[in-house]
Amino acid sequence: TFDVSASFLNRLLYGRKRQMLHAVNDVSFSVPLGGCVSLVGESGCGKSTVARLVTGLYDPTAGEIRFAPGKSGAPLSAQMIFQDPYASLNPRWRVKNIIAEPLRELKLRNSEVEIAERVAELLGIVGLNIADGEKFPHEFSGGQRQRISIARALASEPEFLVCDEPTSALDVSVQAQILNLMRRLQDELGLTYLFISHDLSVVRHMSDRIAVMYLGRIVEEAETEVLFADPKHPYTRLLLETIPDVNEPHRDREVVAGEVPSPLAPPPGCTFHTRCPLAQAQCKAGRPELRDKPDGSRVACHFA
Ligand code: SF4
Ligand code: MG
Repeated sequence: TFDVSASFLNRLLYGRKRQMLHAVNDVSFSVPLGGCVSLVGESGCGKSTVARLVTGLYDPTAGEIRFAPGKSGAPLSAQMIFQDPYASLNPRWRVKNIIAEPLRELKLRNSEVEIAERVAELLGIVGLNIADGEKFPHEFSGGQRQRISIARALASEPEFLVCDEPTSALDVSVQAQILNLMRRLQDELGLTYLFISHDLSVVRHMSDRIAVMYLGRIVEEAETEVLFADPKHPYTRLLLETIPDVNEPHRDREVVAGEVPSPLAPPPGCTFHTRCPLAQAQCKAGRPELRDKPDGSRVACHFA
């Protein structure tokens, strides 16, 4: 497995004052090799910060990220896939050169012929063709650009992919195609995923386990089917209610009522009490610990 147990304090400049923000607070979870764990929550909950800790873009302020040895015996190699592929693809490069860059940098192929062969193979793996390699990123749709960034991520032969909202900029039908592609790649290449989304319906068919985050902490973590069948935290239940009904796809999505409090001044006690329909006096007084339940889930609520 791959184990995370970390906190991250961010120093942010607000006006002229420097403030400390506990962006990630005692977050712990494990991702089994070949599995997929998802982090879900509204924007500002700390899920993207966890992604950056896992890929080494940030160092944890406390705690650690432990990479178990991968298949090669070396530490798992991680690659990140972002929400906006356009921002991460060099607009002046042909697609074949974008995909070839990691092959050249890491000297994974020795000759230009071998590089061209591998680029063609990677284009095929993500459902593009050799002619696409001659084009520039702006000539593609959003979904195709995400295929290009997946091909580039795979070029360095990672065992672990951290995917931060990889489909949330795409139309629903294109989203499904990209998610299917990612599931197929996971099976075929034996990849391990950490998947990040604000949308439980997006991660449902990808994930073995799901962790729901609120204001920098995990509030519930469970096997996917357990989370959907028996959500125990009031916040998880509210997130599930915002998933559109397949029979009424055009009904507007409801969002969880109330504003997310500022992470700079999180509410005392249970940080969800300002929005929780079940809040009692006790909820403001003490913070509920994340506790193990008999069905293997973990929940942080006084009344779960
Ligand atoms: Fe709601 Fe209280 Fe549970 Fe927090 S501890 S989720 S406020 S019931
Ligand atoms: Mg984010």
